[in-house]
Amino acid sequence: MKINELVRENIRNMQPYSCARSEFKGEASVYLDANENPYNSPFNRYPDPLQTELKKEISKIKKVPVENIFLGNGSDEAIDLLYRAFCEPKIHNVVAIEPSYGMYKVCAEINNVEYRPVLLDENFDVEAYKLMDASNDKTKIIWLCSPNNPTGNSLNFSEINKLLSWFRGIVVIDEAYIDFSTKKSLLNYLTLFPQLIVLQTMSKAWGNAGIRLGMAFADPEIIGILNKIKYPYNINYLTQQHALQALQNPMQVEKWVALILEEKEKLIKELQKLKLVEKIYPSDANFILVKVENANAIYRFLIQNGIVVRNRSNMPLCNNCIRITVGTPEENKALIDTLKKFHV
Ligand SMILES: *Cc1c(COP(=O)(O)O)cnc(C)c1O
Repeated sequence: MKINELVRENIRNMQPYSCARSEFKGEASVYLDANENPYNSPFNRYPDPLQTELKKEISKIKKVPVENIFLGNGSDEAIDLLYRAFCEPKIHNVVAIEPSYGMYKVCAEINNVEYRPVLLDENFDVEAYKLMDASNDKTKIIWLCSPNNPTGNSLNFSEINKLLSWFRGIVVIDEAYIDFSTKKSLLNYLTLFPQLIVLQTMSKAWGNAGIRLGMAFADPEIIGILNKIKYPYNINYLTQQHALQALQNPMQVEKWVALILEEKEKLIKELQKLKLVEKIYPSDANFILVKVENANAIYRFLIQNGIVVRNRSNMPLCNNCIRITVGTPEENKALIDTLKKFHV
């Protein structure tokens, strides 16, 4: 499969903006090329447009070569750029699992690209043939998310595998929650499937939602296209510096993950004791989807008590479901204590 043939024609033909920092890449002692203020170091300088140092560290941890890595202002930037790279407005379409992360649809609408949701089965699992049935020769991207948000489960690997061998377009698998999962990442499949894009983020297990750093792993040709159309300095200096620091301590992330998973098990046990809980769905993530008697009433009651969860009641297959993020032991206890006080 030729990635270059999937790209929108205008993107394939365009010349990217060449910024000062990418025209001259070496080390110099005097920088008079970018109209920066010479004072206020280090913030006066434009950041590295390709985040080379940062990618080297990510490369070590993820065991993926630097040329397979794109960094975005959150995964959300990568999601939007993929539409802009591959989907001609009003002509192409994308297929996605439903329910799933809301940004796939929002970005489709922003880019005027038809969005074709395909319902998961009753176990929130994916069926490859259904996604194929929903696609046609104008389908450019299939969106998958595993572990999935808001359902919490991982998608069936053999179904993903089928899709990768059947579908002649881009397959994105969003692994925002992979660090919490016992299932394997699909990063190892990048070399096997040039149309595969794996999204990860610093926002969840890495505890850095505030710095906005998302990662896309893919074939170097896809990475090249994303680099061509991104804003030159999409990852600011502060973010690059802070991420470099965070990456020095991956053990911290492992500790957090272990703690959060332990708390998740405790939270599930406590929730199971509550009468208002009808079903707790299996979770490979740092949140739990819970079916309750009356999601709207419980959501409002929790808010009145200063506790915010996510009401997912209006999403397909999620009637009367709330999504609960696992917090600190104190926060989880506050949630359970408050739920115990809820009476219809
Ligand atoms: C939280 C989340 C993200 C993270 O997005 P960022 O822009 O990197 O913060 C991505 N995908 C899914 C499914 C998520 O739930």
